[in-house]
Amino acid sequence: MSIGIQVPFHRPSIGQEEIDEVVHTLRSGWLTTGPRTALFEREFRDYVGAPHALAVNSCTAGLHLALAGLGIGPGDEVITTPLTFCATVNVILHSGATPVLADVGPDGNLDPAAVAERIGPHTKAIIPVHLAGLPCDMDALWELARRHNLRMIEDAAHAAGARYHGHPIGAGNPATGARSDAVAFSFYATKNLTTGEGGMVTTDDAALADVMKILCLHGISKDAWNRYADKGKWLYQVLLPGFKYNLTDIQSAIGIHQLRRLEEFTRVRERYAALYKDVLGDCEELELPRGRPDSRHAWHLYGLRLNLDKLECSRDEFIEALRELGIGTSVHFIPIPLHPFFARFADRPENYCPRALALYERLVSLPLYPAMEEAEVEYTAESVKSVAMRFRKKRAVHALAAGDD
Ligand SMILES: *Cc1c(COP(=O)(O)O)cnc(C)c1O
Repeated sequence: MSIGIQVPFHRPSIGQEEIDEVVHTLRSGWLTTGPRTALFEREFRDYVGAPHALAVNSCTAGLHLALAGLGIGPGDEVITTPLTFCATVNVILHSGATPVLADVGPDGNLDPAAVAERIGPHTKAIIPVHLAGLPCDMDALWELARRHNLRMIEDAAHAAGARYHGHPIGAGNPATGARSDAVAFSFYATKNLTTGEGGMVTTDDAALADVMKILCLHGISKDAWNRYADKGKWLYQVLLPGFKYNLTDIQSAIGIHQLRRLEEFTRVRERYAALYKDVLGDCEELELPRGRPDSRHAWHLYGLRLNLDKLECSRDEFIEALRELGIGTSVHFIPIPLHPFFARFADRPENYCPRALALYERLVSLPLYPAMEEAEVEYTAESVKSVAMRFRKKRAVHALAAGDD
């Protein structure tokens, strides 16, 4: 029975600065990609520590631009994780390449050893996903990419605010000089930094940055424009079959202020994750998500894992019990092979990922966002604990079950 408290799975944190900036933009007479997008790109580039940043209208667009800009297409294979949003795999298919799935490790991120097993003569790239905001073992993945001459495109949809060896995702590892070809961030409504819809793709490759910029807006070259600018503002040249992936100034107006608050947002997420740990840490029916010693978790998601062998319920029943207590949850993610369209790949041995499928059965994402009140976090944590206690297997049942076999 709900006691009247409702904790939705997500609420955005939009401040007065974002609202004022949008109003100024609307009054400025410049609505689409312009000065505010240029400023957002500059500030994001400086924040990440990457030489180039291109604002796009989604992370999906950023991933697609990176694949297209790197010339990945038909006949190529791209290795990624089954525990991701469908966009990661869709863009591989849109580029004409073939997705290959490698299994995850206990933390839910791509397991470099599983990736190594999938590398073959047609492998061209790896797309790791920093699931929930926890950085992947990038040093191991970069080493694989170096050895096999593969491209690396990070799906950093969850990772704004995360750090790897002390540096923001997108900066690479300055100690080794290893870096990805491109890193794509999402500013979708529920992500750690939002513009409603939007994204950013960063790179240190000037040539790739140029191609992505041209592909981003119909294949129109700005340099061609500049060359002919003195002949009149109407002249432009299409150099490539491009896309329509640009971010508007209305969206960038929101993004500029969200970026300036990202550090504050991330600290609140860290504090709330610690609160969950305080309340749930000694509950043996649950396994809590952990960080990595070399990283800062962005805590985009709090991916709780149920120890189903200690519970008399399924994950779905656990979620239903929380819903009855007024708590919104989600599951990240339904593994790629379980979707009807991708099921056609699932039977192939190169896409068999038993650990991702087993982890999926245990996953519940709890609400975690800066607009939550501390009391809401405490209520959620106490509710999770009470549901775990209600469904916990009795000792006698344990003993009986053990005696049975
Ligand atoms: C949200 C998300 C995306 C897509 O981001 P958009 O900005 O909506 O295109 C890609 N990958 C992952 C893992 C995501 O969670």
